[in-house]
Amino acid sequence: MIIETTTEGIYEKLSRLLADTVPDFELRLKAELAAEINRLKIEKNAVILGHNYMEPALFHSIPDFVGDSLELSRKAAETDKDIIVFCGVKFMAETAKILNPTKKVLIPSEKAGCSLAASITAEDVRELKRRFPGVPVVTYINTYADVKAETDICCTSSNAVAVVKSLKSDKVIFIPDEYLAGNVARETGKQVIFPTREPKMRFPNELDYQMIGWPGRCEVHEKFSVEDIQNVRKQFPDVVILAHPECSPEVVAASDYSGSTTAMISYVEKTDAPRFLLLTECAMGDNIMAANPSKEMLRMCSVRCPHMNQITLEETRDALRLNRYVIEVPEEIRVRAARAVERMIEIGAVGKVD
Ligand code: SF4
Repeated sequence: MIIETTTEGIYEKLSRLLADTVPDFELRLKAELAAEINRLKIEKNAVILGHNYMEPALFHSIPDFVGDSLELSRKAAETDKDIIVFCGVKFMAETAKILNPTKKVLIPSEKAGCSLAASITAEDVRELKRRFPGVPVVTYINTYADVKAETDICCTSSNAVAVVKSLKSDKVIFIPDEYLAGNVARETGKQVIFPTREPKMRFPNELDYQMIGWPGRCEVHEKFSVEDIQNVRKQFPDVVILAHPECSPEVVAASDYSGSTTAMISYVEKTDAPRFLLLTECAMGDNIMAANPSKEMLRMCSVRCPHMNQITLEETRDALRLNRYVIEVPEEIRVRAARAVERMIEIGAVGKVD
């Protein structure tokens, strides 16, 4: 693959894709930074992975691979480079490290967390297992390594239903996304319950349930409402609305399609419709717009993930310059977390993720 290292070359590409959305002086500045990063990348023998939620100028200039977190981790597993720079949030960089223990994995900002991953701890999972002994635990990939290590199998937003079905168990613990649990329960015909916060770990309606969820939410996707959808449909009756499964079950039910980020991208590319609206992180809408100039995308974009937003070209340059911030996962945790991730991959339901 030829890596563009000149400011002019990168500027030409960025202005072709983004002239309508990013001011010219900003594109020029970003092209200069991106050229510096690409030179550093060659010098340090590094690979850069860019999540679908990266801001458009970064997304279209420095990554060697773009995609969702699991796709990127699997790309990382194939690399012969010495350093992996993960332009995404910490749980994603950790997953890359879990699957690639011998590589140095860097994340450009230590502040790139995630409300969903932060909603549950390893001790919470141990408590759930004590409360429901023998019930298998499915963990969404948007969790930290110590939480994955406590669980039986991971899932992504597009293979969650297949993973739950593969367990052939009457009851399943499904953590930590409350809305994804609700969406999976609806598709699998299961009744889901959630622990109340007070007193700790008490459950309502204990007699009738097949899924035990957890009250974690993505702070981006929880913001979309059915009212938003109704308002857009009133103005644009022919709009096709796509919702990420981290949106509430009501929002998903009111949309035309629900799927992971990669599934949404492919849906837009393959579908002929007058216009689309994506209910997900707004940088992704911009990135899809740039890649599909012939498709009309409506913008309802007040929702930028504050964690993804921490990853900038400046921080990425400094990560490469200074070899920071190194992702470490203790080996005992890594081995158990890898089992949960690899088990998901083994069942042959590898899907796409946030
Ligand atoms: S978009 Fe939501 S799930 Fe993804 S990193 Fe941000 S807070 Fe976490």
